Amino acid sequence: MQTVLTIGTVFYFCTMTNQDDQFKRVISHAKEYGYVFQSSEIYDGLSAVYDYAQNGAELKKNIRDYWWKAMVQMHDNIVGIDAAIFMHPTTWKASGHVDAFNDPLIDNKDSKKRYRADVLIEDYCAKIEAKIDKEVEKAAKRFGDAFDKEQFLATNQRVVEYQEKINATLSRMAKSLEKEDLADVKALIEELEIADPLTGSRNWTEVKQFNLMFGTKLGASAENAMDLYLRPETAQGIFVNFLNVQKTGRMKIPFGIAQVGKAFRNEIVARQFIFRMREFEQMEMQFFIKPGTQKEWFEHWKETRMKWHISLGLGTENYRFHDHEKLAHYADAATDIEFKFPFGFKELEGIHSRTDFDLKQHEEYSGKKLQYFDHEMNESYVPYVLETSIGLDRMFLAVFSNSLVEEELDNNTTRTVLKLPAVLAPVKAAVLPLVKKDGLPEIAKQIVDELKWDFNVDYDEKDAVGRRYRRQDANGTPFCITVDHDTLSDNTVTIRHRDTMEQKRVKIEELRDLIKQEVDVKTWLMKM
Ligand code: ATP
Repeated sequence: MQTVLTIGTVFYFCTMTNQDDQFKRVISHAKEYGYVFQSSEIYDGLSAVYDYAQNGAELKKNIRDYWWKAMVQMHDNIVGIDAAIFMHPTTWKASGHVDAFNDPLIDNKDSKKRYRADVLIEDYCAKIEAKIDKEVEKAAKRFGDAFDKEQFLATNQRVVEYQEKINATLSRMAKSLEKEDLADVKALIEELEIADPLTGSRNWTEVKQFNLMFGTKLGASAENAMDLYLRPETAQGIFVNFLNVQKTGRMKIPFGIAQVGKAFRNEIVARQFIFRMREFEQMEMQFFIKPGTQKEWFEHWKETRMKWHISLGLGTENYRFHDHEKLAHYADAATDIEFKFPFGFKELEGIHSRTDFDLKQHEEYSGKKLQYFDHEMNESYVPYVLETSIGLDRMFLAVFSNSLVEEELDNNTTRTVLKLPAVLAPVKAAVLPLVKKDGLPEIAKQIVDELKWDFNVDYDEKDAVGRRYRRQDANGTPFCITVDHDTLSDNTVTIRHRDTMEQKRVKIEELRDLIKQEVDVKTWLMKM
């Protein structure tokens, strides 16, 4: 027997007054529900370093698994490795990081705050972009169904001027950075009258380059110690292993090597929670291809990676591509997949056509050949590389911030729900005995014991059942299973869905399949 008990309809509304409030709510919710803590909090924390708590570690692991499954397990020609964080220091000379892994920094003389000069300029442009969005919104209201956004963007005088201003500013900045003309970057900041966002002061120092790598030492005594770096990206661990993996795995081009691991950057400005950390995790894949085919593969991986993101259901409107104006020294094409974070559209993933730069550099510095013998062509060459690189922590923030919503229910109450994609939720189901007596806790615990072979499940008996539902909603748990007195006679329980709040009466033995259907990686990845 199955009865459906629907507790009213729900409509979603956004209670946030502005982006700052929303972002603050995200940070405090992450702490309150055991997702993310400030590192070493009892010592007042360490700037831009965070710890993942009991729920955060699970969510992070699930994101990592979702990526690994899609990139490694589902591709016959992609394998995964786990290279060490420490690498021979020449690696970073060859890769260009010792000489060129810099950010342009600028200090405000009054506030003594330090900023990335390029970020100040980009934020200035983002504000103009917000004005364009406002104009579009107003016009859409005015014209109703007849509104043609493309045409409006191309013809509205004010919008066209805004867009020209953005293009001219970004292109001048890109050129100056390319030429290392830091005086012009400062001149641009002054011309645009950019002020310290915290104090409004325009009293700036010169712009300087700042290397982002952390140094450390290897060796027991100071005289013999070797200077090392903590890796600033995982990619180089893949390049130096290219030939080993190709030979031992008998890999044929095109093929990829994937890796997930920690990276470290001494970021100048790190005030955006886990968006920009000094210790973070990357999920990278280097795809080795025949020279000359990089354009097709660039398009292929742009499309494939975007589909992966969309499969999680966070809303297609929250993603966009941003092609790079300024290319890194190793790239012949690059784009970012940007996501709409609570503070606006920002880079979530980078897709780079890295040419043969890295392998050639490592050939030169190591004196070892890093080439592939192509049997079809009967010749050896240094492969070109297409890279997809996503920050695991940034992905965490994208998922978490997008999922946190306030809903007004039709009985005039509100609830906080963390609508995490069920496949990523840390706890898949909570089992709740209606009361703490009459044998109900024992049955609930048996259900937990059975389900925990397949899923991460919770047992919760404290407080009234309504409060427990709210707690699990805020925690992101997709299902609540309630054991009541009917369970004693007919072996059925209610299963409540987090998002719809719909409750169904089902047999205990049906639970596993019902939950599996909604949380299975396959169900979600098939949407790609
Ligand atoms: P940004 O311009 O934001 O500094 P980037 O272009 O330097 O990023 P990449 O070197 O392309 O970043 O690194 C690939 C991915 O690693 C980024 O898309 C981002 O998701 C992640 N990432 C980079 N730096 C950090 C950081 N400090 N904290 C968290 N994630 C990061």
